[in-house]
Amino acid sequence: MGFRPLVHLLATARKLVGSVRNESGGLVIDVQGKAEVLDDFVKALKSCPPPLAVISHIRSSRAEVTAMTGFSIVDQRGAEESSRVLVKDPFALAGRTFVSPDIATCAECLAELFNSADRRYLYPFINCTHCGPRLTIIADLPYNRSNTTMRGFRMCDLCRREYEDPSNRRFHAQPIACPGCGPEVKLTHTGSTAESLGGKAITDSATLIASGGILAVKGLGGYHIACDATNADAIRLLRKRKNREARPLALMIAGRDAVSELCDASIEELELLHSRERPIVLLRRKTILDKDLRSALDEVAPGNGRLGVMLPYTPLHHILMQATRKPLVMTSGNLSDEPIAFRDDDASSRLAPIVDAILSHNRPISTRCDDSVMVLAGSRPAFLRRSRGFAPRPITTALSFPFDVLAVGGQLKNTFCLARGSSAFVSHHIGDLSNAAARESLLHGIRHYAALTGVEPRVVVHDLHPDYASTRVAAEMGIERRVAVQHHHAHVASCMAEHGIVERVIGVVFDGAGLGGDGAIWGGEFLLVDRAGYQRVGHLGYVPLPGGDGSVRRPIRMALSHLWNAIGDAPGQLSSGLTDRLSPGELLVLRQMHDKKINSPPTSSVGRLFDAVASLAGLRDIAQFEGQAAMELEAIADIGSRRSYPVKVRDVDSLLVPDPGPIIRAVVDDVRTGVAAGEISAAFHNCLARMILDVTEVLRQRTGINRIVLSGGVFQNVLLVSRSVATLERVGFEVFTQQVVPCNDGGLSLGQAYVVALAEGGV
Ligand code: ZN
Ligand code: ZN
Ligand code: FE
Repeated sequence: MGFRPLVHLLATARKLVGSVRNESGGLVIDVQGKAEVLDDFVKALKSCPPPLAVISHIRSSRAEVTAMTGFSIVDQRGAEESSRVLVKDPFALAGRTFVSPDIATCAECLAELFNSADRRYLYPFINCTHCGPRLTIIADLPYNRSNTTMRGFRMCDLCRREYEDPSNRRFHAQPIACPGCGPEVKLTHTGSTAESLGGKAITDSATLIASGGILAVKGLGGYHIACDATNADAIRLLRKRKNREARPLALMIAGRDAVSELCDASIEELELLHSRERPIVLLRRKTILDKDLRSALDEVAPGNGRLGVMLPYTPLHHILMQATRKPLVMTSGNLSDEPIAFRDDDASSRLAPIVDAILSHNRPISTRCDDSVMVLAGSRPAFLRRSRGFAPRPITTALSFPFDVLAVGGQLKNTFCLARGSSAFVSHHIGDLSNAAARESLLHGIRHYAALTGVEPRVVVHDLHPDYASTRVAAEMGIERRVAVQHHHAHVASCMAEHGIVERVIGVVFDGAGLGGDGAIWGGEFLLVDRAGYQRVGHLGYVPLPGGDGSVRRPIRMALSHLWNAIGDAPGQLSSGLTDRLSPGELLVLRQMHDKKINSPPTSSVGRLFDAVASLAGLRDIAQFEGQAAMELEAIADIGSRRSYPVKVRDVDSLLVPDPGPIIRAVVDDVRTGVAAGEISAAFHNCLARMILDVTEVLRQRTGINRIVLSGGVFQNVLLVSRSVATLERVGFEVFTQQVVPCNDGGLSLGQAYVVALAEGGV
């Protein structure tokens, strides 16, 4: 991170003698001089760390005075010995050299990249100590070149001189490279043996994209699939080949000005977009007048009011964007739900059927890492996916872990978390564990992070659900003590961990699905959470979930289930025509499941209530991915409308149960009288905010708790979260939402780990 050159600079400026070296346990400085000069040296070190560095802890001790001259930077000597010692030390982690996330090309490197007089002019692997690949190229610690995927490249004399010069920006920049000695790009056409190298590979790629072709591009943590984002035919072709009908595709756009042509982005959103982590940011799409461009963008994100946009973050992206001069679709290189391809042989076999050519290079990727995805809800940034640019940066917790903990996360959007002391290392995005390759990468990831962080878990935490692949992985870890944590308890704890909350809170979890303590499928929960655990004090009224998990892609089933629950068995009243939209066969099966309660566990899921309302409102009966109907319902909401639906909360033995029935009946009435879907959507969102308010006000009266935590995947909905926060703050509640990890299941692992800290950790 450029720490040693800084130490060298500060020491020599003060005429101090000694040495500095990197060890896996941290940076070690031996320095001799007068006491007051040494104090000043330490003060200077603390006050101005290099851009990517974070000083978590400085420990100093007196040493024997020995004969020394000058100040030197020592290479990795004694690293193994020290790290062995440090692992036994309970505070070792505080002094460990953390592996940095991957960081976007810095301004200085960028200036050199486009300076025709520079020796790295248009060189796609330019980097320095302030930028470039880290997590994705590191195979082992300590962080030196031989432990990265750059080990196969011998530095040329010019690079070595920079690498060894403490005053140079590339001093000990492990991935240092130049056209003379470093990796190079290669374009291979899938249908033929034709290939091109270097600058020609880039111009040929640009030509391919301009002609409507589809290109695979090797990035930092895996391959992307790219095409011209202004060409509707190219995007349709990509969707067809990728077998991914409806999910929104991400865009890469050259700069902020070009972004503003397509999106209404606030200053905060542009800053987020431009941050060194370079996440994909969901931005509101502008009304586009140009017909061709509009139809292309409709293909990029069908039925969605937002576009997922990122700026180029590797030198290769910058060069490619400059050559194509167009916004590009940059979607992950995979087939539907598979993990993103990151190994070259795998990419060429898996991506060949999708793309016309592959723009690759010979610097291997060691760890797969997807792009991070963020959205700004009002002024609050939120993650939909926390991965590249952020992982494996540790999250500091208010309570410290009593022993090393591993939490294995959920089934979908999986991440895991390793924790020690007051540091929680939440992994990059692993993905959907129903996929064998994702399960494999979960196991590999846990081992890799354990080696990088030195965490040796004594406890493994998993979800209550016995059939989650992560639960099975937990059982196979060979760790004696296993702890099962209820899904929504973990969601609340995740938000508490972020905000350093230790005391009792009211947790509101609106979610897709999670196994509850009573065997039902929960997802509309009001929990009191504290150090003793959780208490369920309210939930959305149960309805049958016909077909269990299978109903996730059948919003119309949820619509019927809610309808039958709300208005009973009077077929004449089902005049919204719902039953006509199902085949007689499916209707019969559904009816039987409902009546005989076969394969229909009760559910309190708000995610499924969204599905039901979306289907009733005529938006979508069948979803291609979970949450699609809810996303579309949010997108069409008439945000100016203040209509709402009735909220009725029953109080059953101190359990507060909001009834979905009156809401469903009101929606059906609206549909029958021809109220616009945008109005229905707005009323539905408003009534959910109202529901949260009504329940939490009673809870506040009963318990005196004024702090509310909102979590669960449904709160990815920006409209719902803004309405809820505003409604609750108006009556004086203190409201916390997730900003450090996602409120969806990507944040579960942090919460699972934090439950252990809450139960057994110290302040
Ligand atoms: Zn740089
Ligand atoms: Zn070189
Ligand atoms: Fe969840």
